[in-house]
Parts: sequence; C-alpha cells; structure tokens
Amino acid sequence: MNVKVLGAAREVGRSGFLIDCDGTNLLLDYGVMFGRRGSPPQYPSHVKPKDIDSVIITHAHLDHSGYVPSLFVSGHCNVYTTPPTLELTQLLIEDMLKIEKNFHPFDLPELNNMIKNTKEIGFREKIKRGNATFELRSSGHVIGGGTVLVESDNKRVFYTGDIHPKGSRMLKEADLDIGKIDLVITESTYSQTEQMPRKQSEDGLVEFANEVMDRKGILFVPAFSVERSQEIACVLRNAGFKHKVIMDGMALKVNEIMFRYLEYLRDPKVFADSINRAVSIRNNRERKNALSEPCVVISPAGMLVGGNAVYYLQELAFDSKNGIALVSYQGDGTPGKKLLETGKVETRGRDLKVSAEVRQFEFSGHADKNELFNLIKNIEGNPKVLTVHGDDESCTKFAQEIHEKLGLEAFSPKVDELIKV
Ligand SMILES: [Zn+2]
Ligand SMILES: [Zn+2]
Repeated sequence: MNVKVLGAAREVGRSGFLIDCDGTNLLLDYGVMFGRRGSPPQYPSHVKPKDIDSVIITHAHLDHSGYVPSLFVSGHCNVYTTPPTLELTQLLIEDMLKIEKNFHPFDLPELNNMIKNTKEIGFREKIKRGNATFELRSSGHVIGGGTVLVESDNKRVFYTGDIHPKGSRMLKEADLDIGKIDLVITESTYSQTEQMPRKQSEDGLVEFANEVMDRKGILFVPAFSVERSQEIACVLRNAGFKHKVIMDGMALKVNEIMFRYLEYLRDPKVFADSINRAVSIRNNRERKNALSEPCVVISPAGMLVGGNAVYYLQELAFDSKNGIALVSYQGDGTPGKKLLETGKVETRGRDLKVSAEVRQFEFSGHADKNELFNLIKNIEGNPKVLTVHGDDESCTKFAQEIHEKLGLEAFSPKVDELIKV
C-alpha cells in the first residue's frame, strides 16, 4: 500500500489522503481550507476522479467534506459515509456555496451528483472494493463521524479523521478496538495543549448562566450550529436550568437532522428533551420578542462571524446585566478573537467596548495532548505514524514525542509526500 498526503500537512484544513491498495485507490476525506480575510479558499492536491475507486468521508465538517463535489465536475466516483454525515455534509456545503457564491469550482449540480453517488454505511460495516477492504468506526467527534480502517495485502492503515476518544454529553466514546495497525494517520490539533476537563467547563457555564439570570440579564452563547449548540442546550437541561433557552439559525436545521439519527447519540432522551424544551426562533419578530425576559440565547456563528450573531451582539453586548459565553474555538482574525483580546466588537463600522460580561469555556471536540498521546501508545503493532491536521508545531513536536517516548517511526509529512506501508 502507498499513502499520498494531499492536504492537512502541518495545517488544519483541506484534509485528503489517497491510499493506493495495489491499484484500488481510496480517497479518505477531501476538504477545503477557508481563506483568511477574503483570500480565496485552498484545496488539497488534485486527483482525477477516474483514478479513484471510492471516497470515504469521515465526517461532515467542511475541512473534510467540502471539496468532494469537485470530483463530479467532469467525472464521478463512489462515495461512502454514514447517513447523518451525508445529510450534514449536504447542509454545510449548500451553506458554503450560498455564502461564498462563485468562489468554488463547483456548484449545486455537482453536489447533487455527489449525493446520488453516495452509499450510506454504518459503523463497523466492512466494504470490499477491488484489493481494498475498509470500514468506519465511531470517532466521538461529531454525530455520524468516524475513523477509517483500510486493509489490503495483509497491511492495515488507521486514519483518525478528527477524534474525541471520550466523546461528549452527546456522543459515546470512540471505538478504538482496532487491532494491529501498520500505519496510523493521526490528527494533531491539540497535541500541544491540555484541555480543561469537560465537567469543569460544564459547571462553569451553568454557573455563569445562573448568575446572569439572577441579575435579570440575558446570556448569549454564540456556538457552531453542528452539535456544539445542541450540546450547550443539553448541558443546561441536564443541570436543571429553569429559564428559557432559545435556539436560532442553522442549528435548528441541524436539530431536525439529529432527530432522525437518535441512535447515534449517547442519550437520545436528554437530547430530545433539551431540544423540545428550547424555543426555536423563525423570524425577526420572534427574535425581538424572545429578548423580553431573562434567557439563554444559543445561536451561530461560533466565532461571531455574520448572521444572527451580529443582531444578538448589537442587542445584548452593551448592557452590563448580560453575559456572553464563548464556547467554540476562536480563530485568528475573527470577531470572537477580537472580543476576547480587546473587549471590543465592531458594530456599524465602529469599534465599541462591550459592557456585557464575557467568559470563555472549553468545549472542544478533539483529543487533547494526553488523550492523543495515549491513543497512539495503545495502538498495537508498532505502527509508523503520520501526524497531520495541526499547525506546524503541533504536527512536528507530536511526531518527535511519539518517536522519542514510544520508539515508533513518526513524522509530519509535507503535501504530496508519498509514504510506503
Ligand atoms: Zn471536524
Ligand atoms: Zn478537521
């Protein structure tokens, strides 16, 4: 077997790995990397659809799925993924095409063609294509999200995609009963960072929400629409939070999709209960009325970029009774990062000091430093390890650590590097 790295090499974004199984080519993920401040998006290295037997999408996030439609511009191939990933991928790519009109070299017809060529598979369902056998295993990262096991010619490759071994309040632990492995392709996002235990983040958020309610304020929680929004609703419900919880924006569409796949969740009852109790906002009038009493507002975008977040900021940021809880990753150059660093937001072209109380909480969907290291340590078979999907330092230092402490051959590959298994 040969692995060609097409992207996510010392960077987070545009994941893509081409596995040549003695002539049967599998493409694991094919994502986009969004440009900073108006620069164009970047994509993984080019592959011809006719050279690929099948694409396997690990999960719906656009850095893993967003470029798959490009393979349907002048050809087609098989796509395999879980049913929830397929629905969420469609939703997220449609949204991307709407926001970045004419930015990408494909459009809705190619997306629809991709969906037509997709075969839905369950976790642990083995698929045989030519000289390759592959399966998805649950990753604990996002609903329907998986890791990939590829077998060919008595060799086995394990690709983590994005992984959260412990899962979350929404998702069960990752399925890591994978046996002997010859090559691991592992994400490295937080390989150099320790995260606050989930319980501590949950308690902190609930306490903050109650404090804000006690002073008759409104707590605004900008959150990613896929899962983080639902997780926050569940955390509040689980803690017996008594006030109104409002959900807005694309999170509502994600709610509908998740309701169709309750079997993928850790506790379907808590999920259904939390979402059913939350108030959905469908138009401007409802949005306005909702803010007439103390409540929690959960709405995208997680980094305060665009959409309803702007509305809620304008309404809520300049009253010291209110609170803003940042629960998502804040990328460089985003309004969320600016709020954290300067205490200011830009509204109507002016930088204004926020008087609402701002606190940040960690609710990451990725393994942290210790979890990643233990994940590699516990894999049998003394595999070779490729560290990808992290910034330069996270990938290179992680590879060094694996080599020094575990004695395994490990390195952070460059784009287009070819690795023999
Ligand atoms: Zn992801
Ligand atoms: Zn990712």
